[in-house]
Amino acid sequence: MKEEIDAVISDVINRTEFINGRYVNLFEEHFSVYHEAKHCIGVANGTDALEIAIESLNLPPKSEIIVPANSFIASSEAVTRSGHSVVFCDVNKDNYTISTSDIRSKITQNTKAIVVVHLYGHPCDMDEIIKLSKEFELKVIEDCAQAHGAEYKGKKIGAVGNIGAFSFYPGKNLGAFGDAGAIVTNDENLAIRCKMIANHGRIAKYDHQFEGRNSRLDNLQAAVLTVKLKYLEQQTESRISVANYYYDHLADIESIILPKKEIWARHVYHLFVIQSEDRDNLKDYLLKNGIQVGVHYPISLPKLEAYNYLGKVDNSMYANNVDSSLLSLPIGSHISSEDVSYIASIIRSFYGK
Ligand SMILES: *Cc1c(COP(=O)(O)O)cnc(C)c1O
Repeated sequence: MKEEIDAVISDVINRTEFINGRYVNLFEEHFSVYHEAKHCIGVANGTDALEIAIESLNLPPKSEIIVPANSFIASSEAVTRSGHSVVFCDVNKDNYTISTSDIRSKITQNTKAIVVVHLYGHPCDMDEIIKLSKEFELKVIEDCAQAHGAEYKGKKIGAVGNIGAFSFYPGKNLGAFGDAGAIVTNDENLAIRCKMIANHGRIAKYDHQFEGRNSRLDNLQAAVLTVKLKYLEQQTESRISVANYYYDHLADIESIILPKKEIWARHVYHLFVIQSEDRDNLKDYLLKNGIQVGVHYPISLPKLEAYNYLGKVDNSMYANNVDSSLLSLPIGSHISSEDVSYIASIIRSFYGK
């Protein structure tokens, strides 16, 4: 992509078009089409995308918003930062996304919204979530930071609920050359509000209708993203092939649990997360053999110091126990077939296979 990316970067510089500009518009248009959403608003990063999306809903102050306990802190941070209260909810044992039965048990009179995280690239069970949202009049915010191109029953995630937030942090499935994010929605009023919040509460130059903030997607990042978006499907397919190799070559190892892909899901494998009781030893063994691995996440959100203020951690929650077993194997379009076969063979040798 280098030539194409260099060309658009030069174009932005030659035009000195740094804030707003044609690539922002172009990217918003292409990304909304790709994600089957009527509107897309570029913002500065994924955390801002979540915060602005929540703010745009105009919920009463201090509303309770349900957030899964296994996620990156941005999912819950955005709730608190926008003046609401985080209520943690458990995740499913098999696919790690938010548990709809636990959502039900966490709903009170003050619950006004749910942040559903399409974690690791696997979509949440949206039919059940939409059903709950109708029954209890809740707004649904989709945290899509790990799920560019993921599908629920053949439909792209993002604008299935009320509003969706994306991150283009360089390590995400679609990554910029720095921080960047976007919001998608089919609701025109929310789209207008988000655009205004992200740009000092204005539409026209000095016509500020309320106090907003500065969280714009800059034209250089948008230019890079416009090029990279064209290759996303191809890169996603190579992620899926790496995942399929793991499924084919690790399924017989009883000591590890592979991630479940539901039949209705297009999983885009931002991460390929396995479970092992012997996680730390397996991790060291892989590192010793030159294989980088990660843990997502080593400490569940409720157990972070940042959430001490919520009081006692619910130890009966699966999410609060499984964090000691999770291990993310290398995945991405940069992983060659030799790489993946080497990784699988090292894991097999750890288990004496
Ligand atoms: C990366 C990430 C975010 C935050 O995105 P930034 O662009 O880094 O602010 C939010 N939620 C999840 C689940 C993420 O993985």
